[in-house]
Amino acid sequence: MNSSLQQTSVMTVNGPISPEQLGFTLIHEHIFLSILADYLDTDRVLDDPESAYVELMHYRNAGGVTLVDQTNRGLEQQPEAVREISKKTGLNIVLGCGWYREPFYDDSLYRTKTNDIADEMIKDLSDGIDDTDVKAGIIGELGAHETWVSPVEERVLRAGARAHLQTGVTIATHGLFAPVGLKQLDILSEEGVNPQRVIVGHAHDYPYHEYHIEIAKRGAFISFDGMQDDNQFLLKRDLSNIKKIVDAGFIHKLLLSHDVCVNSHYIMNGGSGYNFISTRLFPYLSEIGLNKNEFKQIMIENSKNAFTGMQ
Ligand SMILES: [Zn+2]
Repeated sequence: MNSSLQQTSVMTVNGPISPEQLGFTLIHEHIFLSILADYLDTDRVLDDPESAYVELMHYRNAGGVTLVDQTNRGLEQQPEAVREISKKTGLNIVLGCGWYREPFYDDSLYRTKTNDIADEMIKDLSDGIDDTDVKAGIIGELGAHETWVSPVEERVLRAGARAHLQTGVTIATHGLFAPVGLKQLDILSEEGVNPQRVIVGHAHDYPYHEYHIEIAKRGAFISFDGMQDDNQFLLKRDLSNIKKIVDAGFIHKLLLSHDVCVNSHYIMNGGSGYNFISTRLFPYLSEIGLNKNEFKQIMIENSKNAFTGMQ
């Protein structure tokens, strides 16, 4: 193992592929999940394979190649259904592992040793999730529910770090409305993880340039994973922050995705869907000075580097 644990292949739900096969990649999406543990709103359950197929094909038909489904434990993963839809759509799909955030944790986690939590992730990555042979290909999204990392969330993060050090697989985090990604990076770094192998999720949700730049300066990836065009205020805010990141010389640390996770995100329900980035984002990026090659760099090269640790 070398210091940054560089990877020469990426595990999809249908087996390993070479990093070059990733192509245009959405780094943070969800296909089947339930987010009901927060509050009981049926918008927050995605479990219809027919609808998922229709929505994913919009992305496939727009030239999409790979999608990272960061659904993990606590969100009611359906590994075999994800494999099925990967075969049906022809998309490469990478699935997550580990635990989401504290309200979604199983009570047993409070009585489980950190190394045993890590072993469960390593099993999901190496042998298959639960009793399936569908292997995870990314560690995450590992979350903080509040604006801080709770004690049990800290243990899950440390477990994620240990699983990464054993397997070399990339870690992705979740945090909202606070610079909590830096606290998560602190913990991962303490465990010996090279920040280059970490994707800080939902970074756009704390919309301050200083936060984004600090993530990049540490070497981690800045994930703007709420891209959509049904709210122009949020889109303009994201574009403004993207421009600042690019102007500061950190385009190579930027990742873009939609985080489709509720029914109202579906195109059939009036949302932006899985294909806003592939079909409608570029004119907006062009307005803030990015060219086609820079767009490709973000969607193809940066995603590949986030998986391999190379750059
Ligand atoms: Zn999330």
